[in-house]
Amino acid sequence: MTAPLRITLLPGDGIGPEIMSVAVSVLKQVAEQQNLEFEFTEALFGGAAIDETGAPVPEETLTACRQSDAVMLASIGGYKWDTLPRSQRPETGLLGLRAGLSLFANLRPATILPQLLSASSLKPEVVEGVDIMVVRELTGGIYFGSPKGIFETEDGQQRGVSTMAYSSSEIDRIGRVAFEAAQKRSARLCSVDKANVLEVSQLWRDRITALSADYSDVELSHLYVDNAAMQLVRAPKQFDTIVTGNLFGDILSDAAAMLTGSIGMLPSASLGESGPGVFEPVHGSAPDIAGQDKANPLAQVLSAAMMLRYGLSQPAAADQIEQAVLTVLDQGFRTGDIMSEGMKAVGCQGMGEALQAALST
Ligand code: NAD
Repeated sequence: MTAPLRITLLPGDGIGPEIMSVAVSVLKQVAEQQNLEFEFTEALFGGAAIDETGAPVPEETLTACRQSDAVMLASIGGYKWDTLPRSQRPETGLLGLRAGLSLFANLRPATILPQLLSASSLKPEVVEGVDIMVVRELTGGIYFGSPKGIFETEDGQQRGVSTMAYSSSEIDRIGRVAFEAAQKRSARLCSVDKANVLEVSQLWRDRITALSADYSDVELSHLYVDNAAMQLVRAPKQFDTIVTGNLFGDILSDAAAMLTGSIGMLPSASLGESGPGVFEPVHGSAPDIAGQDKANPLAQVLSAAMMLRYGLSQPAAADQIEQAVLTVLDQGFRTGDIMSEGMKAVGCQGMGEALQAALST
């Protein structure tokens, strides 16, 4: 038995607690089979934290996260907190968590599973076999650059300003994460920028190109963001790993995710230079189906697999979970969001039970 791996759980709001409970039972079962020990600590986050403490990410929660080896987050937000001022909203807690843990790299896989080919809005022949990893810079660029604000001008107008800025060290550190992610995949990296117009992108391109000398096994290409958006929907199979800045990554990772057509299936990882990463589904708290046993827990379960692979260096346990997901889909189990004719309808708990059965065979 190795040392216990400390995992902080942030179930959050809406469907969060339901899908988290499935992922935790899967992790417990895998721990037994892989001879691992997990130590789980649950902490308040999002709307649940606002109700208890008045803040979406209480200091106690940040401390618990910092003291752990990895953080698994479900989802936050809901109608109840929508009218609060922006600084007190659950979503603001997400930014606080990212900043508090210095998470600068966001990894979002978009993989088409053969069993769910028909869920995509694109033609099966276009998306079959798509397996993309988008690496997005998360703590810099236009969302954080200064000056920012809405200013009064001398001629009495208002002027809205946001600034896109990257330093060479910010580009280098996300570049290294991306080259290393590409090395674990098919060793093809496409860097996306707007270097034909933006100086900040010219620096981005120069630094990524210079870094490639350290990763001679990775084939590097560059695309302008407008072309990248077009290529993603025209011929997505050409991509393996994509690296890009905060704004372009926000948009392209959503577009890549939607190639799969099923938001309830998509995990993500946010990583810092050291310290725990945060692993969470791409979707939100789905308040429209919360508490009804309708949520698809697979994005959460696949986030647990990403946590094992990228956060806790346990690739065998990650493989086991990913295989169990494929098995239950092969067996025809489907929650409402991915249901199709002839398949077996299950709720959130039923999908959890199917996973447990798949893991024990
Ligand atoms: P959403 O992702 O919660 O839901 C969009 C649609 O997808 C809904 O119809 C929902 O029922 C469905 N859906 C989402 N996840 C599902 C799952 N696992 N299984 C089955 N169906 C699923 O997005 P939204 O409705 O725009 O936002 C709802 C709340 O979530 C808002 O308060 C928003 O701010 C918040 N949000 C949180 C996060 C996060 O926690 N990281 C991300 C996005 C949105």
